[in-house]
Amino acid sequence: MPKKSILITGGAGFIGSHLAEKLLKADKEVFVIDDLSTGSLKNIAHLKNDKNFHFIKGTILDARTIEKLVKKVNQIYHLAAAVGVKTIIDKPLESFLLNTRGTEIVLDAAVKYKVPILITSTSEIYGKNDNLPFAEDGDRVYGSAYHARWGYAMSKGADEFLALAYHREKGLNAVIVRLFNVVGPRQTGVYGMVVPRFVQQALAGDPLTVYGDGYQTRCFGYVDDITDALVKLASHSKASGHIFNLGSDEEISIKELARKVNKLTGAKSKIAFVPYAKVYGQGFDDMARRRPDLSKIKKIIGYAPKITLEESLKRIIDYYSKLSNAK
Ligand code: UDP
Repeated sequence: MPKKSILITGGAGFIGSHLAEKLLKADKEVFVIDDLSTGSLKNIAHLKNDKNFHFIKGTILDARTIEKLVKKVNQIYHLAAAVGVKTIIDKPLESFLLNTRGTEIVLDAAVKYKVPILITSTSEIYGKNDNLPFAEDGDRVYGSAYHARWGYAMSKGADEFLALAYHREKGLNAVIVRLFNVVGPRQTGVYGMVVPRFVQQALAGDPLTVYGDGYQTRCFGYVDDITDALVKLASHSKASGHIFNLGSDEEISIKELARKVNKLTGAKSKIAFVPYAKVYGQGFDDMARRRPDLSKIKKIIGYAPKITLEESLKRIIDYYSKLSNAK
């Protein structure tokens, strides 16, 4: 049988690069397209000598390139998107169009060549819903369109509708996965993500910048747990046409997270409370709490997070310590 070939859009990003690594280890041929906007060549440097690895610098907005790639493969993981709260707020138009137009282009090609696709969406979809834990069929509650942050949830919501419509009307094999905060080595803090920011601040002995009062909560899933589940879902015969939450359900406040990072790094960094307005401008809406209901994904693939938050933080601290020692 010919080797299975796989396209990962956004494969030079944090999650995409871990997924590429996993698929190459499973002896797949992997094509990665990435515009290197938030992804980076460093993330895939260790893969480039693998004969089964192919990197294409390009954008998902380029329909011709996408078609050419989709034609070659028998599975797509569509991860390319504008990511990070900072990116969405700084570049609202570019982000919205990339997420919506780009996904439409990838879906069009998938339908044309009948290639199954897994699309990553986001926990941001649930918005300010306070009915925890969030289940896939729960309501989505958004703030005003004047607040750029909601552009992300709107654009990923449009992607979900599109994928489901392609599935229903054109028979596309499509799975949608809503990722809750994912962490791990290679994630950058440049676009706002809290865990790499706290870890790097602690290792440098700088204050840990907690936005708002720090009582807001999140659940942080470790990237290996996430990529394992993505691969299982993509090849599951009953997943198509469905949406799945994926992440950890170990909930922690951001203030507590800061304390934990201090403890695990042995740093004695101060906790500096920074008003949201100072970071994201006036009228910024944050989500007070976020925790997934994981029963649907547990039922279909037996998913349960294996790596605890403490273990995740230890691995991330180790990664950043080695990185700064190597400099
Ligand atoms: N956050 C923080 N300090 C930082 C970066 C983020 O307190 O330096 C907060 C942020 O306001 C949010 C939480 O940490 O409440 C998670 O932020 P992140 O950007 O990682 O993810 P998201 O907001 O998408 O959940």
